[in-house]
Amino acid sequence: SDSALERGIAYYKSKKDSYSADRLTMVSELRHALNTNELVLFMQPKQSLKTGRIVGIEVLIRWPGRAKPIRADEIITLAEQTGLIKPLTRWVLEQSLELRSRLLDRGWPMNISINISPNNLREPDFPIFVQRLMNSYHSHQGAIIFEVTETSMMQDPGNSLKALNSLSATGIPVSIDDFGSGYSSLSYIKQLPASEIKIDRSLVTELTTEAEDRVIVQTTIEMCHSLGYQVVAEGVEDDVTANLLRDMGCDMIQGYLLTPSLPFDELLEWLERSQQ
Ligand code: C2E
Ligand code: CA
Ligand code: CA
Ligand code: CA
Repeated sequence: SDSALERGIAYYKSKKDSYSADRLTMVSELRHALNTNELVLFMQPKQSLKTGRIVGIEVLIRWPGRAKPIRADEIITLAEQTGLIKPLTRWVLEQSLELRSRLLDRGWPMNISINISPNNLREPDFPIFVQRLMNSYHSHQGAIIFEVTETSMMQDPGNSLKALNSLSATGIPVSIDDFGSGYSSLSYIKQLPASEIKIDRSLVTELTTEAEDRVIVQTTIEMCHSLGYQVVAEGVEDDVTANLLRDMGCDMIQGYLLTPSLPFDELLEWLERSQQ
């Protein structure tokens, strides 16, 4: 049985080593992808339920050239663990402003929503970087919106709040992402300099069948409105859900009902087809 144990340990070690070797390879591949512009931003529209117009676009990272597909959140976790998140987010920001100006050139003025990692908030020069970039693109302050997840803020509430305040001092609107997906402290949320709340997909998917979800979403919308936030529902996949959300007073929706995220050219075609 001893030798079985030893074999077990040896097996475990080899798994562990191959795991970290894999990971090292992935890190250097990601660094390379970032430097050679292999990463791509896909775009998903955000629609106003009041007017039916597309009012904004969220950018989502993709790594299309990779033999073994890797999800966006895996890319981000890897980047966060290795310090690559700093150059990655700056690349995303610059690309986003570039895409925004290309949309504007084609007659589509849009706000761009960009996902920010809590690590970025800890970079002392982040607000200055953002300000310089905005200036060089002659962008007005509402041109981009920063999305931060509720859960990521809760990991270090005090410092996250400070960082978010200094960022919001640059005038860029903040959106609280994935609201309702984790532990929330309303007394904390209300201190955040946010103008928008995005209700997490997990509360939206079963809205038509789950009475409890309807109560939670309705209450969240009312509460957010009294606190002065705009409300976006994410993960809307059908008309029935969209109509329900409109009746509940929700301001905007995002999701497969409109379209999954698309590369720039396909987004343009989609806009021209769906919005006259
Ligand atoms: P998120 O910010 O909550 O983004 C929404 C995710 O839901 C996206 O997945 C999107 O493709 C997916 N989605 C949108 N509509 C629907 C729908 O109707 N039904 C379903 N089933 N799914 C829908 P994606 O692109 O895989 O991104 C996953 C997460 O990775 C994002 O979650 C975001 O937290 C993170 N992420 C993506 N790009 C970036 C980035 O550039 N920077 C940072 N920091 N995080 C990013
Ligand atoms: Ca988001
Ligand atoms: Ca989200
Ligand atoms: Ca989500």
